[in-house]
This record gives sequence, structure tokens and C-alpha cells, in this order.
Amino acid sequence: MAAIFFDVDGTLVRWRGDYGDVLADAFERAAGGSRGEWLEHYDDQFFHHFGAFADDPYHQAFADVCDEHDLDCDPGDLAEALVAAEFDAVEPVPGVAATVEALAERHTLGILTNGLPDVQFGKVAEIGLLDRFDARVASHDPEIEATKPDREIYEAAKSRVDADRYVMVGDDREPDIDGAREHGFETVHVDATAADLSAPDFRTLSVLL
Ligand SMILES: [Mg+2]
Repeated sequence: MAAIFFDVDGTLVRWRGDYGDVLADAFERAAGGSRGEWLEHYDDQFFHHFGAFADDPYHQAFADVCDEHDLDCDPGDLAEALVAAEFDAVEPVPGVAATVEALAERHTLGILTNGLPDVQFGKVAEIGLLDRFDARVASHDPEIEATKPDREIYEAAKSRVDADRYVMVGDDREPDIDGAREHGFETVHVDATAADLSAPDFRTLSVLL
């Protein structure tokens, strides 16, 4: 039996539009308007707090934006609005539901994602597939606090499932392919943005056989 772990963003789900529109939607919902400079500042602050494993990087980044730009609104409302906007904006990557259903019949499936557990697993719930994933591993789980491609997060994933083979499926080269391979996973690269058919490379092919 194999344990097959999936990345979330760009692998199981994708945005219907641009992420900037999702963020603007959150500001519209909770602050009554949105400006480019707020979005840019939010992005910078989010990655800063996310990288530092802050308790709630959404909330903290919005607090910074409200301070800096004198916004009279509650960072907690903005954070809640952004998560709601994200959930509204996700759609399944085409073909993913049938593949997940088929693989779940013969293997143990898992999620292995960089992000906040509630948000990342919530996005998979939005597309109706969360129940198929028995092992759920997110970088910002306080018990993990490591992001792909760091060793600790792959080790955490392997410790959750006893399997003969571990497979990582993902769209991003360094975290999903190079890092996973270095830490004992076979890998399958997917490209949710490919406009045309593309053939898997030979390593992908060998995993599928
Ligand atoms: Mg991804």
C-alpha cells in the first residue's frame, strides 16, 4: 500500500480568478473599499508573519495595514472576511475529484501543505474531498512549524501513515518535487495551469506503473 500525499494550492484547488481579487474582495467586505497600497502592504506583512509562524498571520497582517493606513476597521473582521473570500474563490483543479476517488479505493491519501490547517483543509472541504484524506499535515500546525522543503514536515507526514511507499503529488518544483524526493518520497508533478496536454516525465511515469 502506498501513502499518497497531495499539495493543496495549484494541485487540488485553484483560484477562479486572481488572488489579488480575492484579497480586494475581503477589504470590500470588511472595510467597505479597497486600495492597491493596502493590498501590497497586506501581502508583505502576511509573508513576514507567516514566515515567523505567527499564531494568526492573517489577523496580524491586517492589524499592521489598519495601523499604517489609519483604517477604522477590525483586523479580526478582515481576517474572517479573507478566509470566507478564499473559500468562495476556490474551485477543484479539473479532473482531480475522479483521480482522488479512484486512488482512495486502493491507497491511504494525505494532504501535505504549506499553510494554516483550518484554511488549507477548509479549501479541500469546499471542493467536497476532505473526507478522502485520512492524514492531514499543514506547516502551521503548532506541532509541526516547518514548511516544505524542510525535512521536518515530510517526516511528520511519514509518521502519520505506515506505508510501503510514500508519494508526493504537487505543482511546485522545490517543495513538492525536489524536497519530497530528498526526503524519501516518490513524486508526481502536476501543472494545473497547463493549457494543453503535457506528458509526464519518466520519473512520474515510473511512479504510476
Ligand atoms: Mg502548490
